[in-house]
Amino acid sequence: MIRFDSVTKTYPDGTVAVGGLDMVAPTGKITVLVGPSGCGKTTSLRMINRMIEPTAGRIWADDRDTATMDAAELRRGIGYVIQHAGLFPHRTIAANIATVPLLLGWDKKKARARSLELLERVGLPLSFANRYPSQLSGGQQQRVGVARALAADPPVMLMDEPFSAVDPVVREQLQDEFLRLQSELGKTIIFVTHDIDEAIKLGDQIAVLRVGGKLAQLSDPAHLLAH
Ligand code: ADP
Ligand code: ADP
Repeated sequence: MIRFDSVTKTYPDGTVAVGGLDMVAPTGKITVLVGPSGCGKTTSLRMINRMIEPTAGRIWADDRDTATMDAAELRRGIGYVIQHAGLFPHRTIAANIATVPLLLGWDKKKARARSLELLERVGLPLSFANRYPSQLSGGQQQRVGVARALAADPPVMLMDEPFSAVDPVVREQLQDEFLRLQSELGKTIIFVTHDIDEAIKLGDQIAVLRVGGKLAQLSDPAHLLAH
């Protein structure tokens, strides 16, 4: 469980990106943060893994105050997927996927085997292992991004518009396969999108934010539809 307790982020120029956010992302569920550009979605997400520090309030990971945790330790338990995958261009696909396992000191053989297993899991052929990111389509790169985030099997996944930059047909495939994968893995997921249809399709719970980083509504997809 990830819990926001009166979390505020004011940037040095005075912009209040997140204004007193209270929210719980339950264990094993997909919580979607949705809302217009600038409403504080990315800021909220990045405060969870302490890429951004809150100005006030606390974020809890189960019963631990994340502010008191070692940031590297915290991040070991949190996979992170961004819009344009962010793969290392000079590393092979297998090496990209193995990034965190290798940082954690796994031996190379085990990390390689894990990379191949994950390639399969995200629906890519094993023959991609030795390719470079530029040799993959945008949708394929996003799959690798998901595989990389899953490599060390973190309980929590942060996903920032992971499917927004690909064309609608590929986006739908990625969404469907993501739901299938999640039904097997049961991660605690916080998923950011500006697309309300995507939020309804993917979310077990939907947090609608408005500009100023306040919660406008927290509901399940059925109730959001009724509005
Ligand atoms: P979203 O992800 O919903 O588009 P963001 O969290 O990126 O929103 O941004 C929320 C608000 O904070 C916006 O007004 C944005 O311009 C502002 N903001 C984001 N990053 C910074 C920064 N480093 N310095 C100042 N303002 C920022
Ligand atoms: P570099 O190529 O800059 O040396 P590293 O191999 O040190 O990069 O780390 C690569 C990336 O892996 C980092 O930018 C970070 O996003 C991600 N990363 C590193 N450690 C972790 C971790 N424990 N959990 C999740 N992601 C991590």
